[in-house]
Amino acid sequence: MKDRKLLNIELGRVSAEEYRELPPSGLVVVLDNIRSAHNVGSAFRTSDSFKIDKVCLCGICAVPPSAEIHKSALGAEDSVPWQHWDDTMDAVMSLREEGYTIVAVEQTVNSQKLDAFVPEEGGRYALVFGNEVDGVRQDVVDAADFALEIPQWGTKHSLNVSVSVGVILWHLRSQM
Ligand code: SAH
Repeated sequence: MKDRKLLNIELGRVSAEEYRELPPSGLVVVLDNIRSAHNVGSAFRTSDSFKIDKVCLCGICAVPPSAEIHKSALGAEDSVPWQHWDDTMDAVMSLREEGYTIVAVEQTVNSQKLDAFVPEEGGRYALVFGNEVDGVRQDVVDAADFALEIPQWGTKHSLNVSVSVGVILWHLRSQM
C-alpha cells in the first residue's frame, strides 16, 4: 500500500466560530450525572466530530472551564454549545418542549437494538447517556420515548459511557 497520513492542515476543519454556523444535525447529547470529567471531555470531542448541536451537562457532571475536561476534549468544549442543568429531568422536559424525541441510551427490557434502528427523516433526537455505575436514572428512562441499546458480544455488561457516545452518534449521524 502506497499511502500517506494527512497533515492536520489538510483535514480542512472548521473553526469553533464556523462550527456554530453549520446546519443543525438535530442531535443533542444529554449526560446524566457522569462522574468522570475525562468522560465528559471525551463526549465533547466526539460530539464536535459529529456536529452535535448541544451538550446538556446534568447533575454532578463537571462543566467547562475544567483542566480535566480539556485534557480529553482538546478544545471541543469551546465549539459545541453546552448548558448545565441541576436535574436531568428538567433538561429532558425542556428538550421535549423544544420538539426533541427523548432517547434513553440504555440496556432495558424493551430497548430498540441499534443495528435495527433507523432514525426518522428530519427527526430530532436528544440522546441521554448515564452514570458510569448507575446508568441512566430510572425516572429518566420512564420519561423517555424509547431506549436504544448497543448490542454486545463479549463478557462485559456494558461499554464505557464515552465509547457508547461514539458508537451511537456515528450510527445516527451516518443515517441522517
Ligand atoms: N451498570 C451500569 C452501566 C453504566 S455504563 C448500568 O446499570 O447501566 C454507562 C452508560 O453508558 C450507560 O448508562 C449507557 O448510557 C451507556 N452504555 C454502556 N453500554 C451500553 C450499551 N450496550 N447500550 C446502550 N448504552 C450503553
